[in-house]
Amino acid sequence: MAKQGEIKKTVCTFCTGNCGMLVHVEDGRIVKLEPNRKHPLSRGFACERNRLALKWLYHPEQLMYPLKRDGERGEGKWKRITWEQALAEIGDKLNELKAKYGPEMLGIFEGTARGNDYWPRGRFLSLFGNPHNIFAAGTICSANVMSMNAAIMGDVSGFAGNINKSNCVVYWGTDPSQAWHRAWAAMLNQKKRRDVKVIAIDPRRTKTTEIADIWLQLRPGTDTALALAWLNVIINEELYDKDFVKHWTVGFDELKERVQQYPPERVAEITGVPAGKIIDAARMYATTKPAFIPYSVAIDQLGLNGTRTEQCRVIMRAITGDLGVWGGELITRPGQRINGGKFITEAELIMIDRLSPEERRKQMGADVCRLLSLTGWSLTSEYIGRVYGVPAPVGVQTNAHTPMLWRSILSGEPYPIKALIAWGSNPLSWAGNIKLAYEAMKSPNLELNVVQELWMTPSAQIADYVLPGASWMERPMCSNMMDFGSMVIGGERPIPPLGERRDVYELFRGLALAVGQSEEYWPWRTLEEASEYRLNPTGISFKEFVERMVLFPDEFDLQPWLKTGFPTPSGKVELYSSILEKLDYDPLPHYEEPPESPISTPGVARDYPLILNTGGTFMPMFKSEFMQRELGRIRHPHPLMDIHPDTAHKLGIGDGDWAYIETRRGRIRQKARYNDGILPNVVNCEANWWFPEMPAGEPSLSGVWESNANVLTLDEPEACDELSGGWCNRALLCKVYRAQ
Ligand code: SF4
Repeated sequence: MAKQGEIKKTVCTFCTGNCGMLVHVEDGRIVKLEPNRKHPLSRGFACERNRLALKWLYHPEQLMYPLKRDGERGEGKWKRITWEQALAEIGDKLNELKAKYGPEMLGIFEGTARGNDYWPRGRFLSLFGNPHNIFAAGTICSANVMSMNAAIMGDVSGFAGNINKSNCVVYWGTDPSQAWHRAWAAMLNQKKRRDVKVIAIDPRRTKTTEIADIWLQLRPGTDTALALAWLNVIINEELYDKDFVKHWTVGFDELKERVQQYPPERVAEITGVPAGKIIDAARMYATTKPAFIPYSVAIDQLGLNGTRTEQCRVIMRAITGDLGVWGGELITRPGQRINGGKFITEAELIMIDRLSPEERRKQMGADVCRLLSLTGWSLTSEYIGRVYGVPAPVGVQTNAHTPMLWRSILSGEPYPIKALIAWGSNPLSWAGNIKLAYEAMKSPNLELNVVQELWMTPSAQIADYVLPGASWMERPMCSNMMDFGSMVIGGERPIPPLGERRDVYELFRGLALAVGQSEEYWPWRTLEEASEYRLNPTGISFKEFVERMVLFPDEFDLQPWLKTGFPTPSGKVELYSSILEKLDYDPLPHYEEPPESPISTPGVARDYPLILNTGGTFMPMFKSEFMQRELGRIRHPHPLMDIHPDTAHKLGIGDGDWAYIETRRGRIRQKARYNDGILPNVVNCEANWWFPEMPAGEPSLSGVWESNANVLTLDEPEACDELSGGWCNRALLCKVYRAQ
C-alpha cells in the first residue's frame, strides 16, 4: 500500500492523449490528480475529464469482484465467485470447445487503445492456436488506415506531426476541439500567433470549421471523390514534388491517368462542393509548406470505399513532399535504439510466427477484407520487418471481420464462433447494427461469453462471467503505443487495484495458465516485471523509466528512407500498389457511391429522405464512457442530434425537442439541436449512448436501445469496405420526426 503523502507519476488514459499526471495518494487512496508540468509531452496540459477522475474511480457502481451468471443471460442474476473459480471454469470450457471446434472458435473483443498492452492477448491467442480472431472498433477507427499505409509506403503517416511548425493543417472529418484536446490547444495558440492555414472538410459547422481558411462542406460519403479531385489538381497543375516523385515513387503515370476521371467540375456534382473551392483547397494544401493531414476517424466509418480516401491521402502526403519534414508528416518506426539497446516490441511478444500460414488463413474475414486481415499483413510484414529490424507491428494492425462474427455465431458459417472474451469493450455500444449483435450474443450457439470490465455495461449484462478490470490509476504502463514508434511512455501504478480488480496482463496470464499454456511463456508475475523485461536491453530500470516519464530513441532520423528505402516491395512509395494488386484489389484509388444514398438507393431515399451521420466525439464522454448521471451527464445530460433549423421547422421539431431518428434497421430518439451550419439534408446524431441509471438486464439493458446510434447503422457484408470490412456509421439514409 502507498505510504501517506506519496505522489505517483503516470499518464492519463481517459483518452489516447497520455497527458502526464501526478497522482497524490494518501493512505492508499487517491486524493488529487495534478497535471504534470514537467511531462515532456503534455507539459501540464489536462482536459476537463480529469476533474471527474476521482468521482469516476470511487463511483459505487464500479465493478469490484468476479461475477458468474446465476440465471438466464441478461436476467440480471449474478453470484460472486473467486478469480480462481472463474479462471478454472473458463479455462476448462475453452479447452472443451477447442477440442470440439478447433482453436479458431474463440473471438476476442477489445476497445480503443488507451495505454493497455495488446501483446498479452496476442500471445495468448498465438499459443492457443487461434488465428487472431480479434473483433474491434479498430476496424472503423484507424486500423484500416494503418493497413493502407502499410500497403502503399510501409511506414505510417497522419499520426505524428508538429502543428507548431505546420503552415497548413487539413482537418478532414474531425473536430479536434472535441476529439484531440492538446492538439486543439496548440492549434488555437498557433492561429493567434501566425498565419497557419486551416482547411476543414465537414458537412456540419464545428469549432474547427469556424477557424478554417477554407471549409469544404461536402455531401457525406463522397470524401474519396474529393480526394481524387485534389490529386487531379495537384498533378495537372504540377504542384507536386517532382524530385520525390522521380526518385521515391512508382506508378505515377498510372495515377496521373486515373485522376483524369475526377476533374473538379465532375467532383463538384458528386460532393456538392463548388469546383472553385475544391481547386483553391488543393492549391492551398499543395503549395503551403509544410502541410499536415492529421488522422481522423470519420472517413474510416463510411463502409464501402472508406479506406480509399486514406489511399489518396497517403499519396498526397508523399507527392507533395510533406513526408519526413518538421511540421509535415513525421515517420516513426519501432526498433530504434534507446540508450544503445532496443525496447522489446509488442510484436516480438505476440509470437505470431507460432501460427502457420494455414492457421492464419482461418482468421475470420481473411479471404474477404483481405487488406486489414492477416492475409494483407502477411504480405506487408515481410518488407516492414526487414527494414525496421524488428518484427512488423501486429498488435492492433490486423482485425477479423466483425459483421461476419455475428453471422457466424448464428449460422455456423464459414465456421462457428463458440466463445467470446471482451476486455474493456462494449460491442453493444460500438458494433454496427446492434440488434444483430445482440441476437448473436444471446444465442445458445454461443457457449461462453466472458467480459472484463470496469462497469456493468449493456454488453456485460448479457455475459456469462463478468471480471473486474483495473483502470489506469490502478496499473502501471510502459508502452511504445502498439509499436507505432520507438518512444516509450507510461508511468507507475498509483494505487493497488481496488477490490479484486486485475489488469489485462493478469487476465490473459491467468487464462493462459488455466488452458495449460506453460509458465515458461508467462514468466512475469506482474506487469511491472514484464515492463522490466521489455526495458532490459536499454539498461534502464522500470524505476528510472518512471522518473524519466518518456524514453526517446537515441536518434530520430527525419527521412529514414534515404538510408533504408521504404518498406515496400519496390522500396518506394507505391502510387500503383503492388500489394493491393496481389490481394486482387484495384491498385489505384477510385470512388464508389455510398451503399445507401439518394443516388445508389433512390427507392430507399423516398422513404428515408435525410442523410444520417452518426458519431463525433463530444465532451466529456469518451465513446460509451462517462455516461453516468454523476459524471459526464452533469455537463452533457442528453443525446443530441444536429439538424438544420429550416429542416426542423418543416418537420415541426423545435430546438431541444426529442425526435425520433429512423433507418431501415430501427429507430432511436435524441434531442434536436439546431445547427444552421449543417447541410439541410443531413442530420448528425451522437453514437454510443446508454443510460446507466436505467434498469440493468432485460429488456432495457440500461437503456441501450433508447438513443444508441448503432441501432441505426448498417453492417450488411456487401455494404462494408472491401479492403477492411469496415461497416457504415455515416452517410446513411434516415427519416426524422418529432417524438411525443
Ligand atoms: S486530453 Fe484529457 S482525457 Fe485525454 S489524456 Fe489528456 S487529460 Fe486525459
